[in-house]
Amino acid sequence: MQLRGIYIPISFLGLFLSMLGLLVGSFLNVLIARLPANESIVSPGSRCPNCANSIRFYDNIPIFSWLVLRGRCRKCEWEIPIRYPVIEAMCAVAFLLVFFRARHLAGSPDLMGWYLLHGLSFMALLLAISVIDLDHMIIPDGLSLTGTLFGLAISFGAVEATGINWQYSSVGALVGGGTVLFVAISYRIVRGRDGMGMGDVKLMALLGAYLGFASVPFILFAASVQGTLFATLWWLTSRPNQKTTDGSADMAGVVVAEEQESVGMLALPFGPFLALSGMQWYLLHDVLPQNPLIMNL
Ligand SMILES: [Zn+2]
Repeated sequence: MQLRGIYIPISFLGLFLSMLGLLVGSFLNVLIARLPANESIVSPGSRCPNCANSIRFYDNIPIFSWLVLRGRCRKCEWEIPIRYPVIEAMCAVAFLLVFFRARHLAGSPDLMGWYLLHGLSFMALLLAISVIDLDHMIIPDGLSLTGTLFGLAISFGAVEATGINWQYSSVGALVGGGTVLFVAISYRIVRGRDGMGMGDVKLMALLGAYLGFASVPFILFAASVQGTLFATLWWLTSRPNQKTTDGSADMAGVVVAEEQESVGMLALPFGPFLALSGMQWYLLHDVLPQNPLIMNL
């Protein structure tokens, strides 16, 4: 592709974006650890969560350092969880997928730039939100509300690249957030307890703002189906055996089984399934209708 008169092979851009994905993934690890604790995300620099020694830049290279150090802190030998390099790798893969979708814009770098800004910020936000929701069952406003506003703001510049104008984006945010708010309030009235929280409302507003009005039905449907499937599998596989091998009752197991009497009682966050379905729509919505199975639905 031509950028200010200089020819750049498109594969270089792919390589650059996967590197950027690793670095952003590394930053997401910091966000994920510090945002829920209301700590600053810029200072202090990276520290070992165990011994609090600051981590040198050469020990902080995404994935590579984890492999070289064989997953241990250089100072205190604390075992660095595998999720750190996994999140970095996931971010790099997500960035590459956005790049592959943007390749058709190689002839017009400006559109390509807007398309990437829209897609990469979308993926990074959803990745951070999903992991924080899995960890703490909360979605920080700093990500969901800021993300919604950012998605709306981008639509003004990116409309030619993404086809999503600001009207489409703002209606998407309102209808998306509004639908989840309606479901959450109805559930509370009928069941007398919270099924979904305000975090899910704001996350759905973010998804609607980034993807536009048409994505909302698919995301809600796909997230419910996948969430229910996962909850059922989780319930089936984690139900403890009530008898141990010598035939005596496993008391701890019985208590757990009573607490999780039904699938509906499982405390699973819904946010990651909304995020996953949003990514699926982003990556596949123009591929899906050509699938005869979906056409006939
Ligand atoms: Zn340490």
